[in-house]
Amino acid sequence: MTLQRIGGVEAGGTKFVCALGHPVEGIVAQTTIPTTTPEDTLRAVAAFFTANGGVDQLGVASFGPLVLDRQDPNYGRVAKTPKPGWSGADLVGALQGALGCAVSLDTDVNGAGLAEATLGAGRGLDVVAYVTVGTGVGGGVIVTGRPLHGHNHPEMGHIRLERHPADADFAGVCPFHGHCLEGLVSGPAILARLGRPLSEADPDAPIFDLIGGYLGQFCATLSLIAAPQRIILGGGVMSNAALYPKIRTAFSAALADYLEAPAVRDAERYIVPPTLGDRAGVIGAMLLAQATS
Ligand code: ZN
Repeated sequence: MTLQRIGGVEAGGTKFVCALGHPVEGIVAQTTIPTTTPEDTLRAVAAFFTANGGVDQLGVASFGPLVLDRQDPNYGRVAKTPKPGWSGADLVGALQGALGCAVSLDTDVNGAGLAEATLGAGRGLDVVAYVTVGTGVGGGVIVTGRPLHGHNHPEMGHIRLERHPADADFAGVCPFHGHCLEGLVSGPAILARLGRPLSEADPDAPIFDLIGGYLGQFCATLSLIAAPQRIILGGGVMSNAALYPKIRTAFSAALADYLEAPAVRDAERYIVPPTLGDRAGVIGAMLLAQATS
């Protein structure tokens, strides 16, 4: 049996990282393409794979929003985005047409989540939640090796939270909801309160209690809704390690001893950082190619 040639594309707002090989066996060729227009960028992506002998299966983990409902006539396209020229860009159609192989598409968050669930901090578990806290807040739930989809991908960054009394005057930065999770804890939300990123704040500053408190409250809600066996928190904001103990404390307080599962009671092992670092994106894209094959 010939080994399948698997391709992965981590499609970001500033660059597309393309890799050929296998998510576990190793990457044999890789390149980075700057994100320009959809036509030029996707043409360069296809040219990379063609020049390296082609692919049998391609996975794309992309910035969003995306249309992921296969019944939708716009399936495989970028939905309405502020990024100039990319609204309606046909990622799946263009790459399938140019490469003649099956293309599976998912969000960058679900791609990284799939990588962490399969090979990283969630390895060995059936149901894993992955949440990234950065410029925005996004999350996915990986169920036995597949990202959860319903009407579309989850949008857990936009759930409402109970406001902290000390934060009552902050309107939040989400243009849709003001004080949803993303509106309260994303990088821009922290910048709006502090005037500088969290990494430049004193680890004892009250902002850590505030952000940790909100994220702990969110993790409790996520645990109650989806019952993940582990919650992995990544993204730029989470590179501030001082947040984790605050989140775990607030998480346990919010649950108030209601959940009795040992996995949940051990907050130290339940709410954890990712382990794959920057590699999660492109490895996740390759795993997406396999997940739907
Ligand atoms: Zn929102």
